[in-house]
This record gives sequence, C-alpha cells and structure tokens, in this order.
Amino acid sequence: MDTRPYIFNPREAHEAEQKWRIVKRSVDARQRELRVHLTILTDEQGRPIAKDAPIPLYEPPVFQDVHKASRSALIIGAGPAGLFAALTLIEHGIKPIIYERGKEVSERKKDIALLNRNEGLNPESNYCFGEGGAGTFSDGKLFSRSKKRGNMQRVMELFHYFGAPDTVLYEAHAHIGSDKLPTIIKRMRECILEHGGEIHFGCRMDSLRELKDESGKFRETPIILAIGHSAHDTYRMLAEEGVAMETKGFAMGVRVEHPQSLINSLMYKSLSLNPSPEGKGNNLIDYIGNASYSLVTQVDGRGVYSFCMCPGGHIVPAGSSEGTCVVNGMSASHRNSPFANSGIVVQINPEDIPGDNPLRGLEYQEVLERLAYSQSIGHLSLDIGHFPSTAPAQRLRDFVEGKASKDLPKCSYLPGIVPSRLDLWLPVEIGKRLRQGFRDFDHKYPGFLTNEAVIVGVESRSSSAVRIVRDPDTLQSVNTPGLYPCGEGAGYAGGITSSALDGINAALKIAHLAR
Ligand SMILES: Cc1cc2nc3c(=O)[nH]c(=O)nc-3n(C[C@H](O)[C@H](O)[C@H](O)COP(=O)(O)OP(=O)(O)OC[C@H]3O[C@@H](n4cnc5c(N)ncnc54)[C@H](O)[C@@H]3O)c2cc1C
Repeated sequence: MDTRPYIFNPREAHEAEQKWRIVKRSVDARQRELRVHLTILTDEQGRPIAKDAPIPLYEPPVFQDVHKASRSALIIGAGPAGLFAALTLIEHGIKPIIYERGKEVSERKKDIALLNRNEGLNPESNYCFGEGGAGTFSDGKLFSRSKKRGNMQRVMELFHYFGAPDTVLYEAHAHIGSDKLPTIIKRMRECILEHGGEIHFGCRMDSLRELKDESGKFRETPIILAIGHSAHDTYRMLAEEGVAMETKGFAMGVRVEHPQSLINSLMYKSLSLNPSPEGKGNNLIDYIGNASYSLVTQVDGRGVYSFCMCPGGHIVPAGSSEGTCVVNGMSASHRNSPFANSGIVVQINPEDIPGDNPLRGLEYQEVLERLAYSQSIGHLSLDIGHFPSTAPAQRLRDFVEGKASKDLPKCSYLPGIVPSRLDLWLPVEIGKRLRQGFRDFDHKYPGFLTNEAVIVGVESRSSSAVRIVRDPDTLQSVNTPGLYPCGEGAGYAGGITSSALDGINAALKIAHLAR
C-alpha cells in the first residue's frame, strides 16, 4: 500500500472523503478559493483504496484477561492519563485498580447540569472531577504541540477504537466534542471492567501514608498518580507528606467570546462564504466548519496567547471549589453555537511570584479565583443557599480602554455574567499585558478588538502551576519510589492527548519493569 497527496476544492474533497480511505487532511483557507489537501491510501498501482475496503485501519488493541493477574497497579484519577494507563496495563496483563474521587459519567452529567443552571457546585463532581477527568466535558481537541513524547497515533487509535469518528485518525486538528466524549469514556470503563480491572468512584485518595506499611514502604505498588491539575487539596496533602514538588510556569487571563460570524469573517477573509448556486453541501462553512484562531504575541517579555479556542462553543464554569470563579471552554461535535470563545492568557514564570513555597503558584491562582468570585456575585445575595456560579464580565473594547460596560452582550455562559471592572481588579501584570495583547491581535485581525466581544474572568487553570518531580528515566517520583506522577497534574503534560500519552508511558514503564 502507498499514499498519494491530492489538492481538491471543498466539493471534490467532500466526495473523495465519502469514497476513499483518507490518511491525512488539512485545509488551506489562506487563498480566495479554499483548498483541501487530502492524502489518500492507494494500492501498488496508485489506485485509491475504497473507504469501506476490508483492510484494518490499524493494529487493534489486544486486551488480556487480568481478573487473576499476578500483578496489579493502583491508579489515582480516571482522567485521560489514568484511563489510558489502565488500558495499557491491561494490554500488558497487569490489573489496574482505579480510585476516582468523582462520579461515573452519567451521574456527573447531572451535577454539571445543576452547575450550569446556577444551582450550586458539587466539589467532587464537576467539569474537573469525575469519570474521564477534565477531558470529558471539553472541546475534545485532540492534538498536542509536542511530537516527541511518544506514539501520538496510538492515542488517536484508542479513541477511535472506543468510538471516536474516523477523522481522529487523519485530521490535522482532530476534534471529538463534548456530546460524544461521555460515550467513549463509558466504553473505556466497560472495557476495563470486562477484562478484570477495577474502578472505584467516589473514592478520594487523602493520604499516601494509608498505603504504606510500618517501614514507610508502599504496601502495593506501583501507584500511578494521575490527579489532574485542579486537585489543590491533593497537592497540599502530597506536599505535607513530603513528595518532591516544584513550582512551574503557568498562564492566567480571561476568556474572550465573539460572535462566531465575526470570527468567520476575520479568519476566512479571503474566502467567499456565501453558499454557491450549487446549493446544499457546497457551503464552505458547512464543509470546513466554523473558524478558529491561534494568536500569540509578546508583551513586556511575557507571552500573551490564545488557549483552547472553541469555535461554535460555550464558556463553562470550570472551578472545583466553592467561593471561586474559574472559566474554560467547550464545544459539541458540530461546533455550531453562535459563539466563538478562547482563553487569552499571560505567561507567568515561577520567579514572578515571591517566596520559595513550591505551591505558591497554586496560591496565586486561588487568590485570583476568589477575587473573581467576589466580583461575580454582583447583585446576588448569598442567601440563595449556595455559592452562585455567575462570572464577572466586561465588553472587550471597554476593558482595553478602561471604561465600565453599561450592559453586556449575549454570552454562551449559562449561569450568567455580571458586569464588572476587570480592567481595575485584574493584577496589573496580567491586565496590562492582556490590554496590549488584544491591541496586537486587532492589528493582525482588524475588528478583533470590538465591543461586540466580551471577556469573562478568570481563565486560571490553563496549565499546572506545580510539577511533581520525577526521574526522567524511571518516571517515578524522585523521592517516593513506586509513585508514578503523570498527566497534566504532574506538570509533564498539557491537554487530553499529551496527558493520555503520559499515562501510556507510565504504564509501559511499569510493564517493562515486570519483565
Ligand atoms: C472545560 C475544559 C475544556 C478543555 N478542553 C480541552 C480540549 O479541547 N483539548 C485538550 O487537549 N484539553 C482540553 N482540556 C484540558 C484537558 O481536559 C486536560 O488537559 C486533561 O484532561 C488532563 O488529563 P489528566 O488525566 O492528566 O487529568 P484530569 O483530566 O484532570 O483527571 C484527573 C482525575 O483525577 C481525579 N482526582 C483528583 N484528585 C484525586 C484524588 N485525590 N483521589 C482520586 N481521584 C482524584 C479527578 O477527579 C479527575 O477525574 C479542557 C479542560 C477543561 C476543564
């Protein structure tokens, strides 16, 4: 078998995708006419292979029966890192035993619905905690900037095996969507249980000591620590129990939301977006989807950049503790809401925060999250019986020009936004850089800086502010043998794909030790 690259117009590309086996797709929207680059699988004579030809797309995983396996491993956290670690262990005949503080995905959905209706936060079951971790109700963008970490294609194949669309196998910027992810996660759980793994929901690991014998050694090892970056209580416990940690750079800012139609016209500016006279199926937006963007600039020696852009998406309440306000973004598979949102964040280096406490980055995040909360309650009184999840907001141009917003535009954030002077209360090192960053982005895409857009605070959990230090060869904690910190919470990954891959790598290390 071979492959051959083609360049098509959207209609031809659409037809080719229905007929042939595609191995790579990317879209070039820089010219007036949209060009779609497709790489198609061919036979030895160069003839395209049919989409439904009976050839395997990839080597399917072979899961062993681990009900009575001689080896087992504990996994703390059922996010992408924990789940992919568990699946990999099963492939290698090792029984995974997962402890997850949150609920299984369908129960978790109910808590998220309450949160979106502004009916209170469950600190153990929310956008961050529960089956599938922070990746379940997310945008589900499946790409990672780093190609060095390992077999990225394997992550895509496993997602596909459990029900993700074919596009994850070949799309340059693959996307699943929060409507499809819960089913995929549920199938992963069913596979783990069916093959003899264990998953215990509602089980928070509160101390490593409980897992040790009198001599201070773990009774059961290995332990894969895949807690994500929002479990601040768990970080504190680990610090108290002496697990080696250090502050790492992270980023904070706001989420900005524009009408999607505006972003389409800014990003696809050279394209004609009107449906062609040929009608249905040939509307460019139908084919290429709503536009996204990736923006970056430097202000006073620090990066200011867009993060987790969600075309046709929603802004969501992504905090996990009461009395704080944290926002993030997600979208469904069709990405068809009328809004385009993205985090716009400022890089923060460890030396920007005084002191030598390894958790000082977390504390910095928390101060800002509490401040945002105090600004977000606005006219709401606290006697509504729970902590509201409204968020503080300001029109974008008003923020940059230092003016109060008289009113706010429509926004996708379901619990509701409250007018607030983010220009006055954001820390100066963040607010000043964001203002200049927005001016720079407007210079690149005139019209980006507009009062049709709104900023919502605060985007504080774009990456982990802590690293749980591990040995690069063994992947074990440098001072707690048997403990494998991995995924986003360990500070070695960021995003679904790289966290999943980090989980796979931890499991492979363990499997390799067994031999
Ligand atoms: C709203 C939103 C949208 C996002 N969109 C995207 C996107 O489009 N693309 C992308 O790549 N990334 C996205 N992300 C980030 C992505 O979800 C994370 O990078 C990824 O989930 C990290 O995986 P992880 O397994 O390391 O940790 P997590 O997914 O955070 O999972 C950690 C799990 O550990 C559990 N846990 C924590 N402490 C304990 C404890 N003490 N005991 C037991 N269990 C514990 C938690 O409940 C959680 O389920 C998004 C995040 C959010 C919140």
